[in-house]
Amino acid sequence: MIKYKLICKSCNKSYDSWFSSSKEYEKLKKLKHINCYSCGSLNVEKTLMSPNVLNSRKINKITKDEKKYINVRNKIKEYQKFIKNNFKYVGENFAHEARSIHYNNKKKAKGIYGNASLDELKELKDEGIETEVIPWLKDNNN
Ligand SMILES: [Zn+2]
Repeated sequence: MIKYKLICKSCNKSYDSWFSSSKEYEKLKKLKHINCYSCGSLNVEKTLMSPNVLNSRKINKITKDEKKYINVRNKIKEYQKFIKNNFKYVGENFAHEARSIHYNNKKKAKGIYGNASLDELKELKDEGIETEVIPWLKDNNN
């Protein structure tokens, strides 16, 4: 099945019509079986199908957004790599380790990264311990 947008050159009305194939359309046209539903004129032409134009635009847009997403993802991965190489992973002990560094004044301590709840982060902030929340992608999420 194929959908054509037909336009009547006599009264300027346009409408969608279904045909089993483009060949069937040509055949009916030749036999003068296609006439305007409104004024009956045989001066009916098919126009370019606008849905196709819209679809290709939509696809382009998605591709652009996906590119952006991949770029951001790569940036995050680079950042993660840097953190993994330069910081110590402390997992769920993040709040505890952060306090330990802060209160023991371990100036030379390696930076740490790990998991903390929003409540823990708020408590740390109240105690004057600066933390930074970073987006994190799981390794197995490639
Ligand atoms: Zn017409």
